[in-house]
Amino acid sequence: MSAESSYDVIVIGGGNAALCAALSAREHGASVLILERAPEESRGGNSAFTGGGFRMVHHGLEDVKKLIELSEAEIANIDFGEYTAEQYLDDLGRVTQYNCDPDLAETVVRRSTETVQWLHGRGVRFVPRFGMYAFKHEGRYKFFGGTVVEASGGGRGLVDAEYKAAAKHGVEVRYRARATALLRGPRGIEGVRVERDGVQEELRARAVVLAAGGFEANREWRTRYLGPGWDMAKVRGTRYNTGDGIRMALDAGAQPHGQWSGCHAVSWERHAPDYGDLEARTAFSRNGYPFFVMINGDGKRFVDEGADFRNYTYAKYGRIVLQQPGSYAWHVFDSQVVHLLREEYRSRGATRVEADTLEELVARMEDVHPAQFLQTIREYNAAIRREVPFNPNIKDGRRTEGLAIDKSNWANSIEKPPFIAYAVTCGITFTFGGVKIDTSTRVLDIADAPLPGLYAAGELVGGLFYYNYPGSSGLMAGSVFGRIAGREAAAHARSAQSVAA
Ligand SMILES: Cc1cc2nc3c(=O)[nH]c(=O)nc-3n(C[C@H](O)[C@H](O)[C@H](O)COP(=O)(O)OP(=O)(O)OC[C@H]3O[C@@H](n4cnc5c(N)ncnc54)[C@H](O)[C@@H]3O)c2cc1C
Repeated sequence: MSAESSYDVIVIGGGNAALCAALSAREHGASVLILERAPEESRGGNSAFTGGGFRMVHHGLEDVKKLIELSEAEIANIDFGEYTAEQYLDDLGRVTQYNCDPDLAETVVRRSTETVQWLHGRGVRFVPRFGMYAFKHEGRYKFFGGTVVEASGGGRGLVDAEYKAAAKHGVEVRYRARATALLRGPRGIEGVRVERDGVQEELRARAVVLAAGGFEANREWRTRYLGPGWDMAKVRGTRYNTGDGIRMALDAGAQPHGQWSGCHAVSWERHAPDYGDLEARTAFSRNGYPFFVMINGDGKRFVDEGADFRNYTYAKYGRIVLQQPGSYAWHVFDSQVVHLLREEYRSRGATRVEADTLEELVARMEDVHPAQFLQTIREYNAAIRREVPFNPNIKDGRRTEGLAIDKSNWANSIEKPPFIAYAVTCGITFTFGGVKIDTSTRVLDIADAPLPGLYAAGELVGGLFYYNYPGSSGLMAGSVFGRIAGREAAAHARSAQSVAA
């Protein structure tokens, strides 16, 4: 081991969780190296692809003002509401069908506000998250659904600010550096084997933080763990998250944890590229379905499109699209809701058809059973409780009644031309399975004992998300655990050093 290749803490990964760990370890006095598998221009993992939204506990204006400078006019025009710890815990419990690890959930929730403030203190700028999380009512924006802030510049802005802070505080970063194995010694994990430009090297460290993301970009693992058909899903984010961090940890004795067959997956442009594109981060999203119907190749609806706000259903509906014949579906609507279409539906390359009659529309869709399609729309239109007014801003209760699969809210008739349809498939965001950690982010073995010197944060941690996910919790969880991991790894490095001395 050469002296120059030794660090207190090596962080594997170059996304938000890794950067939080590195910044935190550095501020606790450790020398830190980040190993990022991607080249510099593609750095930042899935974090760079995000909208930068953070779900944190807040009590309205008072907390938001600590992050964002607001003018008097803005203060007068925005109602941030509040999002309590109890609501956050309820949301995490409810959407994960009460599988989520209560200790991990408590940690994320209770540390959320201070951690966002900590990021702000390190140069991350925040702005109100209007987009899908606020609506305008009588001239005022009203937030709903728990997320009120996002990093300025979205995910790219977030990771650029974090890399800038890392450089400022003396964190070393190596790009195109793929960690391939953890090195074990008498004190536990003592380093990392890394491959760069085909050359292998062993780097020593007193502690290692794993933050290398999930396995969503690994076709073979997707099929193996998520099940048949998942090889065909489109990857919404980075191509570099192939499960390396999880594999290295398992090889070192870590306990697999969480829902290995589960993932976050959404409705996504059917003919999108296989991996995400940082320059067109949102162009392929298809999130308008609460106001539309979704029809499969058999010409049938297959899910309650209006079960809840998009925020609480989008992450699980990708799987349902994947399960349809041919793994595709169409979002179908008419001129009455065109004004609600988000920008992404207007992007170039969208698989879109339009017609003045439903018969022509289904003929243009080509791969949908025409007679069944027409019957489905007829029955759907007839089942709508039209006396209930449509209101996109609340769960309006404008539902259908008597269908095999009813639509619970926002049931708009499809009868006023032009008629429009968009083809979608499943886009996978990230996987839920990973390794087990405790609330100090120590990676645990099969007997729940910590593997000395090994910490983990971010997507590769299992146990937090099952079946579904409350929007904007991923960055939050990665930041909370990344920050803890950096602090704990630095403390471990100090004690390892004093034992050695
Ligand atoms: C399109 C999209 C939008 C999203 N929007 C949001 C949002 O608004 N809010 C939210 O909370 N969440 C959002 N998410 C989810 C969010 O991206 C994740 O929860 C979060 O970014 C995970 O952070 P991470 O640091 O664990 O992983 P990542 O950011 O994916 O980082 C993993 C890193 O590990 C590196 N790596 C992989 N293997 C190796 C190896 N062997 N050696 C070295 N490095 C390696 C990768 O290159 C990458 O840099 C979104 C995801 C996508 C794809």
